[in-house]
Amino acid sequence: MSKSEQLFAEAQQFIPGGVNSPVRAFRAVGGTPLFIRRAEGAYLFDADDKRYIDYVQSWGPMVLGHAHPEVIEAVVEQAQSGLSFGAPTELETELAEELCRLWPNMDLVRFVNSGTEATMSAIRLARGFTGRDKIVKFEGCYHGHSDSLLVKAGSGALTMGVPSSPGVPAALADHTITLSYNDADGVRACFDEIGDQIACIIVEPVAGNMNCIPPVPGFLETLREVCDQHGALLILDEVMTGFRVSLTGAQGHFGIEADLTTLGKVIGGGMPVGAFGGKREIMEQIAPLGPVYQAGTLSGNPVAMVAGLETLRLVEEAGFYEPLVARTDRLVEGILAAGKKAGIPITANKAGSMFGFFFTEEPQVTNYQQVMACNNERFNQFFHGMLEEGVYLAPASYEAGFMSAAHSDEDIEETIAAAERVFARLD
Ligand code: PMP
Repeated sequence: MSKSEQLFAEAQQFIPGGVNSPVRAFRAVGGTPLFIRRAEGAYLFDADDKRYIDYVQSWGPMVLGHAHPEVIEAVVEQAQSGLSFGAPTELETELAEELCRLWPNMDLVRFVNSGTEATMSAIRLARGFTGRDKIVKFEGCYHGHSDSLLVKAGSGALTMGVPSSPGVPAALADHTITLSYNDADGVRACFDEIGDQIACIIVEPVAGNMNCIPPVPGFLETLREVCDQHGALLILDEVMTGFRVSLTGAQGHFGIEADLTTLGKVIGGGMPVGAFGGKREIMEQIAPLGPVYQAGTLSGNPVAMVAGLETLRLVEEAGFYEPLVARTDRLVEGILAAGKKAGIPITANKAGSMFGFFFTEEPQVTNYQQVMACNNERFNQFFHGMLEEGVYLAPASYEAGFMSAAHSDEDIEETIAAAERVFARLD
């Protein structure tokens, strides 16, 4: 019995399913989740001290790689001055200023503790600002697990086969309109009908919770256009794409203006941080300036703020993104070539340092239906084959993969060589 098997059995006695977030349980792929003891750079080490090249990177935050020495040093130093004060610190202003300086449509920003809180609060603010209740989201996009957003959601919700959760009151779910990602006509038709009731559109500008689906040309532009026409707000949920697709996320990359932006993951450098920010007249509606309530005992936590500040300082250094993206490209090309060589129908998408593979005959995957039609059985075999080879991929075919700056060319080549061996063994 491996240590992970032993630890998983123990965990299940006290924690539902043995995990604190469902996808970690390996339900989609079967088998036992790895219990992690430590991580460094591109690598995870499990409870048996086996090393894995990690393409999950804590689901995105660790863009520098794990346990970056400068981030750890800043965290340790800050921790010695106290873990939480429940009162303002200058660190919050520093990080807020940094975000407002970098992100084109961010005049004010509020910190929270997770992506879920960021999107939940942004939705409340959009409803409060517009005086409307309805929101538009897209099938297969995941924006955390708040009630309004857990309707036809992606990520773990898709994996568990419960994209819409029991426990979400129907009266609330009725206000969430779910449209098809990358279907601009569907969006126009919806706004033509009830545009004056819609508070906001929330969208992942590159969908990363139904594998990796970049927007088709014109899709994001249409969202901006209908919001402007009908007085709705456009919320770009860049929890995953922020500081991943580019320094200024997907909105910088695609040149789309957001009314509100939600951030998470990278901005906390692995600590629990989320944020929502945007145009001044909207953000001024948040308490204590305005009537829309939002709060948090640990929000703007000093230790989390320094992890974020240090991480952003490093990703802002000149030349950070080019090699990261080049390595992502090399990995994707290498794995595609290996698949083709073995006669496996496979395609891929990528955006900056995010990527995803699809086991399908289709030349390109751009929507939810195509994702759902992919060969999951083959993905599961591939996943377990790679795991045996010491490569840790996301344990579900609906998740994006992430590159870090710590992955070396050798790590990439090792991963491609592993994929070649695994593909050769697949049915
Ligand atoms: N929005 C997006 C786009 C996400 O990918 C996620 C999490 N993967 C969330 C929101 C929720 O973030 P958290 O898990 O930190 O609550």
